[in-house]
Amino acid sequence: MAAEIHELNRALEAFDRRNGPAGLLLRYARGRLRHRFSRLTLTLFGSVILALSVSPRIGVLACLVAVTGEVIDNYQLRGVKKQLHRGDSVKSLLRKTTLTAFAQAAGLSVFVAILWLAIPHEVSFLLCLAYLGAGAINAIMALAYHRSAALARLVVYGGTLAMLFAADYYVLEHQREQFFYNLAATFMVAYTMLPFVSYVTTGRLRNLRQQRRQIEQGLELAKANAALLQRQREGRFLSSIAENAVDSIIMLDADANTLWVNPAFTRKTGYKLSEVVGKHPSDYLHGPRSDPAILERFTNAINEGISAHGENVNYTKIGAPFWVETNLSPVFDEDGKLEMVISVDRDITLKKQREAELAEAKRAAEQGERAKTAFLATMSHEIRTPMNGIIGMAELLSDAKLSSEEALYVQTIRHSSEALLTIINDILDFSKLQDGHLKISSVAFEVQPCLDEVMNLMRPQAAAKGIALDIEMKDDLPRAVWGDDGRLRQVLVNIIGNAIKFTEKGSVTVQVGTVKEGPDHGLEIAVTDTGIGIAPDRIEHVFDQFAQADAATTRRFGGTGLGLAISRQLSRMMGGDVTVTSAVNVGSCFMITVDFPEVNLPTKRAIDPDVLPEPAVFAGTTVLLAEDNRTNRFLVQKLLKDLPLTLITAVNGKEAVEKVKEYKPDVVLMDMSMPEMDGLDATRYIRNHVPTQPHIIALTANAYRSDRQACLEAGMNGFLPKPVRRGELLQAIAKGLESRSRAV
Ligand code: ADP
Repeated sequence: MAAEIHELNRALEAFDRRNGPAGLLLRYARGRLRHRFSRLTLTLFGSVILALSVSPRIGVLACLVAVTGEVIDNYQLRGVKKQLHRGDSVKSLLRKTTLTAFAQAAGLSVFVAILWLAIPHEVSFLLCLAYLGAGAINAIMALAYHRSAALARLVVYGGTLAMLFAADYYVLEHQREQFFYNLAATFMVAYTMLPFVSYVTTGRLRNLRQQRRQIEQGLELAKANAALLQRQREGRFLSSIAENAVDSIIMLDADANTLWVNPAFTRKTGYKLSEVVGKHPSDYLHGPRSDPAILERFTNAINEGISAHGENVNYTKIGAPFWVETNLSPVFDEDGKLEMVISVDRDITLKKQREAELAEAKRAAEQGERAKTAFLATMSHEIRTPMNGIIGMAELLSDAKLSSEEALYVQTIRHSSEALLTIINDILDFSKLQDGHLKISSVAFEVQPCLDEVMNLMRPQAAAKGIALDIEMKDDLPRAVWGDDGRLRQVLVNIIGNAIKFTEKGSVTVQVGTVKEGPDHGLEIAVTDTGIGIAPDRIEHVFDQFAQADAATTRRFGGTGLGLAISRQLSRMMGGDVTVTSAVNVGSCFMITVDFPEVNLPTKRAIDPDVLPEPAVFAGTTVLLAEDNRTNRFLVQKLLKDLPLTLITAVNGKEAVEKVKEYKPDVVLMDMSMPEMDGLDATRYIRNHVPTQPHIIALTANAYRSDRQACLEAGMNGFLPKPVRRGELLQAIAKGLESRSRAV
């Protein structure tokens, strides 16, 4: 088919070439040359007549004139092909060949004039008319090929005839009658030639047009055939795709009635085409679990003639449900009217199953994670309560008169329980970080006292190991900053604690400076030690939860592997980070940054936790202790035993309320979790119903910051986390008494 189209295209091109200006000129030249001998024969014939009837000289002369014109014209026409090839313009060749045509016609006209004048007039008229008529017919035949040459010839022949008639009219006056007969005869000949002229010109043109249309029609037909073949091929191709597709394909008409289904549909649903044709898909595919909203969306899409996509539950012939992902595509006819809708349904039951399994696994994992976090939180809280007793009792015991061996035992108990408390605090913080409960609460605080406090806390440990612990502060350090001092302290205690723990000899140096990036002053604290260092392959892992540089470290130094993970997370929550550089057996440098902007804070009197209030402060006061745990009650009794105050106790919130009403205590030490009525409810009740209001201090193992908030919201005045130290307890009570006396 393509070859046929190619052939026809070439034929059309050849046709246009043949009938274009150059093609016509060439054909004109060829035609004229082809008939040159017959024209020459006629000329010779006339010359012979002249030679015989007039004189041989006249015959030769006439012949020479006619042949000269012919030779000039032929010479030019023979060169046309070559000149066209050479690239000469068609226009100039047409001009040249018109001139030579003129010359040829002029030669013939002179020949005819000699005939007309030399031979007797009775015969010459007919002979001349024959010659001029033959020339004119020749010219007319060439009209379609070379219009200007043909017209030039006709003008010359017409002019010659007119001149000869004029000569006849004026010169041969005596034969006027004959002249008019000849003129009439000439008009008759011209008149009879007119249909011939019109036939040759218009007929030829029509012929040419027809030829071209035939080729064009042939070409169009061939193209249409090719397109048809292509569509047939595509149709076969598409239908074979639909037949062999793995997905179900349903073709619906514009009213959503089924036209056709593919074999995959039959395999999946069990319905044959004959069972569903003409039916709406919802009549045979949908069931109780199919989503009506999706069905409505599909119906609307079909009505609006737009495509739609959705997932839904379909049913097989025997009622088994399966998940499908449906793609609806409208198909329009040439006029843009909805012709049909193609629905491609992919079975996604397995995918859905997998999704459900994954969601279930995720839910289980999250539940497990929550359970783990809750367990850790509960456990650490539960352990804090007895720890409170152990640490408190050990503290009391260390004040008693003991032998040096007994004092060592007590000290060991205290150190061990404090180590245990650190672990518990870590676990508690870790579980809070895990479930996102840990919050950073910023306050304005002084940098120097905060750092001093940390250093004072760490010094005994360093001294015990014979390690120097130094602090270097930059001069431009801000006096006060805005941030969470408690959390900064926690990070520092952990990292300086590690530095001391992992250093056998040498020193630990803390360098404090500022990061000046933008308008804010961040703090930058470098803790450098001369300890065991960390191997390069472990260095980044030390920040992972429960990760330690190696197992031997755990055995040698103990620890949970949580400290650095917590420190890094806390620092990041405070807008900074913790990074480390280290070399094995040389030492490590931990760099802590926090984004704490500088603030203005009025200078205030420092409180020294080790300075105990004067006992006289407590004289004549009543303190109520509400605590369900016997050990803790005993501990507080012991801590307050030498003071001139009256201590009464309650074992739950309800009893606390009763005793507040009865004894009107100055200060209440309120445990948070107690049976019957907890500390928060008891406080709220006291605040709302008791006329004489005590100062209430929460005393609790619940160390969360949110708990502190809850205590304050319930109406408590202070908060003491367990285990309670004697100094802190006395200071808190003294502060309560002071604020009460101020209020009175
Ligand atoms: P822990 O100290 O409770 O094991 P950390 O998270 O605080 O947990 O530290 C993780 C590990 O990083 C430590 O076990 C130790 O191997 C390593 N490490 C931390 N600080 C230092 C240090 N200053 N020098 C050498 N190793 C350290």
